[in-house]
Amino acid sequence: MTAKIIDGKQVAADIRAELKDEVAGLAKQGIVPGLGVILVGDDPASHSYVTAKERACEELGIYSEDNRLPAETTQDELMALVGKMNADPRINGILVQLPLPKHMNESEVLFGIDPAKDVDGFHPVSVGKMVVGEETFLSCTPHGVLHLLLRSGVTIEGSHVVIVGRSNIVGKPLANMLVQKSSTGNATVTVCHTRTKDLAEHTRQADILVAAVGRPNTITADMVQDGVAVIDVGVNRVDDATKKRGYRLVGDVDFEAVKEKASLITPVPGGVGPMTITMLMVNTVESAKRAAGIG
Ligand code: NAP
Repeated sequence: MTAKIIDGKQVAADIRAELKDEVAGLAKQGIVPGLGVILVGDDPASHSYVTAKERACEELGIYSEDNRLPAETTQDELMALVGKMNADPRINGILVQLPLPKHMNESEVLFGIDPAKDVDGFHPVSVGKMVVGEETFLSCTPHGVLHLLLRSGVTIEGSHVVIVGRSNIVGKPLANMLVQKSSTGNATVTVCHTRTKDLAEHTRQADILVAAVGRPNTITADMVQDGVAVIDVGVNRVDDATKKRGYRLVGDVDFEAVKEKASLITPVPGGVGPMTITMLMVNTVESAKRAAGIG
């Protein structure tokens, strides 16, 4: 079996096209969703992520406010900016680009965001609501994985999903979303990590396998069963002298070998990545609707 490649760029483009229409409809009612972006320091990858997020806003007609602060910014200055955005009615979503510089307390900053504007879904109120199945902002990468599965026609209900990785931003929230007693959940979920004994024994039982590890070739062909649907969240740089920049991006899965056994698989790049920014846009529009009393 050779897998169908799930085109994350296309799925993201489809969702953005729908969202663009929705934003245009909101504009006619005088509602313009707004995203406040905060970036501290000069990490090049963070700058390019933030630029991509602001471009997505522009493309969709979402107002974005760019706050790029120097690395020496103090915790108090950052908290004051978050407070200002919490109070600003033009801002429906606040995005603090991570990681923050080492001298900052990341949790204090994220927990300082008004949960009504927590479009990244990292605030404990958002996480708690998600766990108990209340409506809230779902964290963007796992939410993107969920949409990739749904829009690719993968049956989640009753499936055994094995997630490799238990981070707060991917593995844990995704496990919680998929185990919900709901039409987009009802899966049986196994979460694996570095202390898992015999990882392959678990991954071979997966109907749906999600890799969110951060290490190339963690999932090889002998670790999956025929017909598995594979979502590769990992983004890793590997040296490649044939590329101008000296490296290429790969996921956590041995794509070429695993695609010969899987029924569906996401590539890296072009799989989960485009979905993450798209779900941030979805959450920002949702927040604007809630603020206007129409969500
Ligand atoms: P993370 O916080 O470093 O977590 C990695 C997880 O993988 C941990 O739970 C770790 O276990 C587990 N792990 C590491 N090596 C393992 C191994 N050999 N066997 C089994 N489990 C192992 O990473 P993250 O933030 O979740 O990100 C994971 C990957 O996804 C990274 O490559 C990241 O760049 C990528 N990512 C992509 C997007 C996107 O939009 N495409 C968004 C977020 C993240 P322990 O808990 O035991 O340490």
